[in-house]
Amino acid sequence: EKFILNGKLVDRSEGYVDVEDRGYQFGDGIYEVVRVYNGQLFTNKEHLDRLYLSAEKLSLQIPYSAEELTKQLQELVTVNQLNTGIIYMQFTRGTAPRKHQFPETSHLTFVAYTNEVERPIDHFEKGVSAILVDDIRWLRCDIKSLNLLGNVLAKQQAAEKGCYEAIQHRGEIVTEGSSSNIFIVKNNELLTHPATNLILKGITRQVILKICDEHQIAYREETFTIDDLLHADEVFMSSTTSEVTPIIQVDQQKIGNGTPGALTRQIQKYFDQEIEKQTKQ
Ligand code: PMP
Repeated sequence: EKFILNGKLVDRSEGYVDVEDRGYQFGDGIYEVVRVYNGQLFTNKEHLDRLYLSAEKLSLQIPYSAEELTKQLQELVTVNQLNTGIIYMQFTRGTAPRKHQFPETSHLTFVAYTNEVERPIDHFEKGVSAILVDDIRWLRCDIKSLNLLGNVLAKQQAAEKGCYEAIQHRGEIVTEGSSSNIFIVKNNELLTHPATNLILKGITRQVILKICDEHQIAYREETFTIDDLLHADEVFMSSTTSEVTPIIQVDQQKIGNGTPGALTRQIQKYFDQEIEKQTKQ
């Protein structure tokens, strides 16, 4: 198994990152996760666009063009013979003596590796449970940064309660999952938090909204409350690895009749078609 270290393909056992890497010490870096279906990258352009945006927001200069990066990632998938899975990539501000402010000189550290990850078909069909947790994160959740402690603590609480996702809220307003965006359905209309500084603008979320445009499904990018969530007809989460996963229970309370909703199932079908369209061989 190979991974990419600073633009070179090396053995997993060979490469290492310095102990004074700023990603390791400060979480000073950014990342992306790209889905691979059929050995092909799904919505790669959208992920790289977001990567460059995150970089800009943190004054990181990625030393590769999108074309160069794509070539490297495709090569990685090929040498690792990945069929269904993910590519994880991250850029940090590099290695320098430990001082909080940016170092005067440093080269970004770039790492990318692949993992086999099946599509969670069982979850798609049966749905999952979630809990509500306070959103204790910082105010730049729009940046896909390595600082994920708030998300980690939220997901851990869900895991301890035997739940799959933690749905975060600031006061009464639902923001997003610990590693997903949240949609609710009320009267055949979708609602999801607007893409502000309080959430990550998910690529899966964007694909879903495009699907809605194409199929005349009504939606609004507007905030909704905990009460709206608990009394919604349907709830689902979206992410690169979880795609469109129905949430059938929140804090022990059933959503609707406690099974995946009809509109959610329909959007899953359209999402499948999108995957087929982009990754057929
Ligand atoms: N919000 C957060 C906090 C996430 O970590 C993720 C998953 N990366 C998402 C939303 C969903 O984003 P995407 O659809 O691009 O995977």
